[in-house]
Amino acid sequence: RRLSTSDIRTMFLQFFQSKEHLILPSHSTVAPDPTTLFTVAGMQPFKEQFMGAPATFDGQHSKRVTTAQKCVRVGDIENVGRTRRHLSLFEMMGNFSFGDYFKREAIAWAWEFLTSPEWMGMEKDKMYVTIYKDDDEAFEYWTQDVGLPADHIHRFDADENFWPANSPLEGPNGPCGPCSEIYYDRGPNYGDDTWGDYYQTRESARFLEVWNLVFPQFDRQDLDENGQPVLKDLPFKNIDTGMGLERVASVVQDVPDFYSNDVFLPIIQKIAALSGKPYEGEVSVSHRVVAEHIRSVSMILADGTAFNNTGRGYTLRKIMRRAIRHGYMLGFREPKLYELVGLVAGSMGDAYPELRSEQGRIETAMKAEEERFLKTLEGGIQRLGGLLGGMEKGSTVSGAEAFELYDTYGFPLDLTKEIAEEYGISVDEAGYAESLEHAQEVARAGSKYGKSELFGGNQQALDGLPATQFVGYDNLEAQGQVL
Ligand code: ATP
Ligand code: MG
Ligand code: MG
Ligand code: MG
Repeated sequence: RRLSTSDIRTMFLQFFQSKEHLILPSHSTVAPDPTTLFTVAGMQPFKEQFMGAPATFDGQHSKRVTTAQKCVRVGDIENVGRTRRHLSLFEMMGNFSFGDYFKREAIAWAWEFLTSPEWMGMEKDKMYVTIYKDDDEAFEYWTQDVGLPADHIHRFDADENFWPANSPLEGPNGPCGPCSEIYYDRGPNYGDDTWGDYYQTRESARFLEVWNLVFPQFDRQDLDENGQPVLKDLPFKNIDTGMGLERVASVVQDVPDFYSNDVFLPIIQKIAALSGKPYEGEVSVSHRVVAEHIRSVSMILADGTAFNNTGRGYTLRKIMRRAIRHGYMLGFREPKLYELVGLVAGSMGDAYPELRSEQGRIETAMKAEEERFLKTLEGGIQRLGGLLGGMEKGSTVSGAEAFELYDTYGFPLDLTKEIAEEYGISVDEAGYAESLEHAQEVARAGSKYGKSELFGGNQQALDGLPATQFVGYDNLEAQGQVL
């Protein structure tokens, strides 16, 4: 039995429907509230219900809801092609309880869905979880109800297992609570690190986080006069979970990463065919970035965001331009990427019909952006050509110059290196890294929640908002330097 990504999406919704959840459609990629540019989590459209608003949706009342939510995380853009577990657009499968069931059921059901042979059939002894340091209740359910061995559980501090991250000490105010994350051990082919290594480094090639169970039970208020966090019990306890659809699909389909799954492989293959560059070796990062970004740009365009120089449209443009320059590295000198939209609509159009109905508009907008940006890239090439022409063989392009090419013309270091090599000239990579670091620091400055991915404080989204508001999710890290 080989489950497609679509099968898994459907099964998740059916599973929770069988547990009396109401299936609701995905919210748009445009965030439902002004705290972020894009929707970044399945819970985001339900903030009011977590605070006690009536759980009525289009006239239907239900305290249990399940969704597949399309999410865009600006902070993960640069991770794409690098970590292999991050997409800029992904689907977060969620089950939500507004004052109805709580921890015990949330844990039992997640376990049942992932491990039951009728559902995902993932191997029980490869499951690991993290919990918040004093969440003995969660520990008890994982060990007693589920039967997970204690050495498959690790207790983390608030920076990892309290949601939003770093709360309660750093805020933001609003609904919050401990969380429990589920990991799957993908085995020694993926790395020789151990579960113990994971919680030392908090980074693993092998233990893949697939699901986050959040238990919002507090309303964080302003700090008291001693600077201590004030956590008021919410009028009722909630459940908010997020399962990464594409990550679970990778595990269930037993493919090494997203790019070999049923959604991405056809796109990768078409990129290889269009460019004449097989999907292998160093250049393959470009196949991945193009495939991923075109999927994400297609969806964002379908939802009505247009290329722009500010706000959401600017982020969209950055994603697209990152795709275009990777396309350039694959040898594309004319618009080609828009030809991939049909594949995205084909694989995801059943669940997201807007991809089909808007396909023509998406292609036209993409093609125009390709034309525009390819000209800019050509400008950069001329600039670089002029620079290199005046230099001696064996000399070095300074870090500042390489960075300026990147900053002004969207020229990636790799491309600069590649072209410089043809002249027998090298590039000061350390100097480049310094300039980049400096620019990122400037971009990061002023971010209060810089560490948290979910509440990273997207400056464009946050500007003008009162400091105590339930603030943004996008990671500032990627703000300045996506290209
Ligand atoms: P990570 O630590 O891997 O960045 P996260 O802790 O930021 O993930 P959550 O905010 O807990 O992720 O989101 C819930 C789930 O959504 C994750 O457990 C994961 O399965 C999935 N997910 C999160 N970010 C991404 C992404 N960029 N691409 C694909 N799936 C993701
Ligand atoms: Mg995580
Ligand atoms: Mg998580
Ligand atoms: Mg993350």
